[in-house]
Amino acid sequence: MSRLLVQGGTLLGLTTPRDIRPATDLYAEGGAIVAAGEEASRRAGAPGEPVERLDARGKWIIPGFVQAHLHLCQTLLRNGPEGLELLPWLTQHVWPGEAAHDAETLGTSARLGLAECLAAGVTAVLDMGTVRHSDSLFRAAARAGIRYTGGNVLMDDAATTPPNLRATAEEGLAETERLRKAWHGRERGRLRVAVQPRFAVACTDGLLRDAAAYASTEVLPIHTHASENRVECQAVLRRTGLSNVRYLAEVGLLTPRTCVAHAIHTDEVDWSELAGRQASVAHCPTSNLLLSSGVCPVPELRRAGVTVALGSDGAACNNSLDPFREMRLAASLPGARAIPETLAAFEVLRMMTWEGARALGLAGAEGLVPGAPADFVVLDPEAAWSLPVEWAEEPYGAIVYAMGRENVAVTVVDGVVRHRSSDPTVGGLKPRPDEIRKAVASLKSRL
Ligand SMILES: [Zn+2]
Repeated sequence: MSRLLVQGGTLLGLTTPRDIRPATDLYAEGGAIVAAGEEASRRAGAPGEPVERLDARGKWIIPGFVQAHLHLCQTLLRNGPEGLELLPWLTQHVWPGEAAHDAETLGTSARLGLAECLAAGVTAVLDMGTVRHSDSLFRAAARAGIRYTGGNVLMDDAATTPPNLRATAEEGLAETERLRKAWHGRERGRLRVAVQPRFAVACTDGLLRDAAAYASTEVLPIHTHASENRVECQAVLRRTGLSNVRYLAEVGLLTPRTCVAHAIHTDEVDWSELAGRQASVAHCPTSNLLLSSGVCPVPELRRAGVTVALGSDGAACNNSLDPFREMRLAASLPGARAIPETLAAFEVLRMMTWEGARALGLAGAEGLVPGAPADFVVLDPEAAWSLPVEWAEEPYGAIVYAMGRENVAVTVVDGVVRHRSSDPTVGGLKPRPDEIRKAVASLKSRL
């Protein structure tokens, strides 16, 4: 059983802006926080397995970041063509690249992405996979020790998808079921399988309805894209007579276990549909700007009562998996509206942490309190370029606007240290540059 004592850090629990405990010890055992304050060192002093100690004096402890929308299969497709919108970008770069993966290149792509996540303080991800070789994703996630929700992607529409990246509804859902039996709940529950129709444009009506029924029977998370791009929205409207969100509701895919990526081109009816069915939205601001998709109406969604989490999307449309960049952009974009609004740094931090956990359906108490999962990040405000921090009453603006990945000292998932800034290889998880080059050459040879 893992035992970890984090000594003397400032605990920022992010439940309310006042949830700040300076110079406080934190003790985790068996993957959960069991004590804070004086009780923490008492519990750590009790006989048992050896206790790992982290000196966190002068450091800030925050809940782990949650990447609520990723494509680890696309990490090796980073730095592709610029200036394309969603559909040509998919057909020209992403889908051929995904179809060219074998089990080995997909594993390398996932390791690279997960190492980048852990090094940036990410403790949980929701990953939209690809059609084949999905065991490689789960193997990489098991090795990383991260909380991973993912699975194979479902896409079956012969009119819109390439033959080498397509599976019938029956084949696709049989593969999800195979993955569920092999991986769901493994690694102390850190690995979970989600049902993932890619987006309505790539899926037949029958597949979407079967996917909804299957997810409901097995009580699995659902992850899909919707209303990212105007051309995509028009295609769905032409085919179904409905907006994307209303169509997802109609086929049964909008549930409290559903996380919808993007939701940019949405209206009041969509917002209340999402809120009423308790579905969450993953806001991916960098990707949305790079693919000229538009800007998600985050203030409206939040006012309607929708949980809005944050994600980097794939490295192919970002081109970085950096939660600090997404937070900074999410906090800044409301200020660029015709009628400017503000989104407080504290709220953006909640979106990147607790709201992300809610979007993924990760159970557990909020806050760095006994009973909460021991998923947290040790930030070093003295690293890099974030000093001074004395001017602000609250530390949240410093994290969102001044800090970056270079301030992440340690990442802890499930009570175990999974990354230290002193080890840039992330425990050997990060593929070496020659491994990355070899995997890309292998991918290219199959294009
Ligand atoms: Zn995506």
